[in-house]
Amino acid sequence: MTDSKKIYLLANWKMYLDLAESVALATALRAQKLSPEIVMTVFPSALALSGVVNEFSDSDIAVGAQNTYFVDKGGLTGEISAAMFAAAGCQYALVGHSERRHLFGESNHLARQKIEAILATNLVPVLCVGETKEQRDSGEAAEVLEAQIRSAFTDLTCGQGRQFIVAYEPVWAVGTGAACDPFEAERMAGLIETWGRLLLGENSEVFVVYGGSVRPDNVAAYLKEPHVSGVLVGAASSRLDTWLEIVQSALTSV
Ligand code: PEP
Repeated sequence: MTDSKKIYLLANWKMYLDLAESVALATALRAQKLSPEIVMTVFPSALALSGVVNEFSDSDIAVGAQNTYFVDKGGLTGEISAAMFAAAGCQYALVGHSERRHLFGESNHLARQKIEAILATNLVPVLCVGETKEQRDSGEAAEVLEAQIRSAFTDLTCGQGRQFIVAYEPVWAVGTGAACDPFEAERMAGLIETWGRLLLGENSEVFVVYGGSVRPDNVAAYLKEPHVSGVLVGAASSRLDTWLEIVQSALTSV
């Protein structure tokens, strides 16, 4: 880990915490001392967003949207636009999370539409990509990732200096306890970075994080890898004890 490398600690609270629980966790996190290399972002449920933004108003912890819609405003019952999340104080937005792709049928095309809408705001997109167990077992993992990345980034119009985060999240590792081997995560992160730079420009800011059953006892192994710039954590980020252990581990690796 070099001095200048940022470590992204991304906490996806999914639908685990209600408003009171989210605000209580945010209050506890606000008290934590971080180092300048750590970029911590929490992704609360939309209902808890304003409470969490409020808690972090005088801290360095950022807030992100778990899911956005690509139209700014309209008759779209139940949806919330990227523009609305930005106006509510978010700085990041997840897109293409495997639960959205596989439980709610979201396609590469929809992820691309959402990225374009996210880039029309000041939000940083966190594109989630990853292969299923069947795709891995049949040797298609890299091909699937490349298609997801190409669909998201080919001919994308974005201003200079835009930052992109791509989360390599193998579907078989998300929420299963079966974390990916860190060397394999590193191999995939290297490929993703190469494709990202190719499509977005050599000087583009593309950071790759790993996600999928990250826990206090395995996080250090991912953070050691040169192409892995952090972790996206679900279950273990929604509990103060496990999240603080993960943060501690990251602090010792900077
Ligand atoms: C996630 O939600 O992106 C995730 C990686 O979940 P978990 O850490 O629970 O596997």
